[in-house]
Amino acid sequence: MNKTAMQTNVIQANDAPAITPDMLQKYDVAGPRYTSYPTADRFVEAFTENAYLQALEQRRMTGANLPLSIYVHIPFCESLCFFCACNKIVTKHHERSAEYLTYLRHEIALHLEHLAPKDIYKAPTISQLHLGGGSPTFFSDSELSELMAMLKENFIFAEGGEYSIEVDPRTVNDARLAHLASLGFNRLSFGVQDFDEQVQKAVHRIQPESQVFSLVETARRLGFDSVNVDLIYGLPKQSPASFTRTLAQIVSLKPDRVALYAYAHLPERFKPQRRIDTYALPEAADKIAMLSNAISTLMSAGYVYVGMDHFALPEDDLAVAKRQGRLHRNFQGYSTQPDCDLISLGVSAIGRVGNTYSQNAKTIEEYYDALKQNRLPIVRGLALSRDDLVRRAVIMAIMCQGELQYEAIELAYMIDFKSYFANELVMLKEQEATGMVELDDEGLLVTDTGWFFVRAIAMVFDRYLQTDRNRARFSKII
Ligand code: SF4
Repeated sequence: MNKTAMQTNVIQANDAPAITPDMLQKYDVAGPRYTSYPTADRFVEAFTENAYLQALEQRRMTGANLPLSIYVHIPFCESLCFFCACNKIVTKHHERSAEYLTYLRHEIALHLEHLAPKDIYKAPTISQLHLGGGSPTFFSDSELSELMAMLKENFIFAEGGEYSIEVDPRTVNDARLAHLASLGFNRLSFGVQDFDEQVQKAVHRIQPESQVFSLVETARRLGFDSVNVDLIYGLPKQSPASFTRTLAQIVSLKPDRVALYAYAHLPERFKPQRRIDTYALPEAADKIAMLSNAISTLMSAGYVYVGMDHFALPEDDLAVAKRQGRLHRNFQGYSTQPDCDLISLGVSAIGRVGNTYSQNAKTIEEYYDALKQNRLPIVRGLALSRDDLVRRAVIMAIMCQGELQYEAIELAYMIDFKSYFANELVMLKEQEATGMVELDDEGLLVTDTGWFFVRAIAMVFDRYLQTDRNRARFSKII
């Protein structure tokens, strides 16, 4: 498809499409976020530690020199946010971190035995590190230093890599941010959600706006490459008017990136959410108004819509990568780093090595037990079939580049695109009619409007969803 003939495929402030409430309503369906394909709910227990070790072995034989990405899950939080859907352990006992670090050290050592035995291979290089949780800043400064030291003992950190950490504003001050900078982190992500006091009370997460403003200012002074702020709409006590005030504050804060998530109220799946007063949740029409307003406010303020839920200032790496077609997607969302194997450490963490996905034990007891027995704590995963690989390439091209050249897929996977995806191309016709995609003989292009519903476009190619009508476990697109 000739992109220049049609459009730039990068949405900027001046050409923001008109997203009407009707459109938002129509495409408010439940669906995956495609941080992976197949999605994690397709992982099976038949994928064991042995299968994972084989994948590591294969990597060593074929691609040992390619940089790695590392994710470390730190599950502890001091207090419970009622909207939480993460794997976390709420505790005031900070001594639990020291024990957890001991197990992380052991897990790293086990990985290294298979990734690159020290007497034979040099330490693997990493170009991406993300600390998530839970709250990574539950760790004290010295515990974070210890964690980084153990990673640096075992891996070489590439120059210019993305080294990021999720920061709970309630757990840090200027000195702690300076410490994070000294450890080599170059990206911070602050969980803000909403500045409104009533909303903060309703979700049990009080963090004054002035504190966030001061921390972001300090982060800038310290030279962090990028500061992200997470927002959530659809929380209890939120209204279009209150969220408009929060958005105005965000615009004046001017973080490099904004992630704007829809709150998915699934109390039957996530126990903390049972503490949310259902009657205080905004109506669907109000949620749609909040999203619609957020899109226009952020784009009028100069943000580029990078892709699902993500906005960035035009000079931020993510926006630049989007313009240059270098955007990638992994379990942490969008990334500027090329697709690489992801080694995941810690309870419940999900990794990707070669054509496999794998997940660690979801409870800390199980996680510790496996490591005590000198086993990697893998409890499930998936070896991707050939069909999975073809569809993953298609879905990631849609989610990241917003376009698909049929020929590229045909050459890479030796298929005839139009016959392989005959049914999907018929389904896409409806989306073409509503202006979400443009189709021609050579490919597919996601339109400016379609970008806001990119999940729905990707879902057309998800083979598992085609046979699965029970989508209640997924969050709504909006
Ligand atoms: S939202 Fe974050 S800080 Fe709050 S309980 Fe969940 S993991 Fe912890």
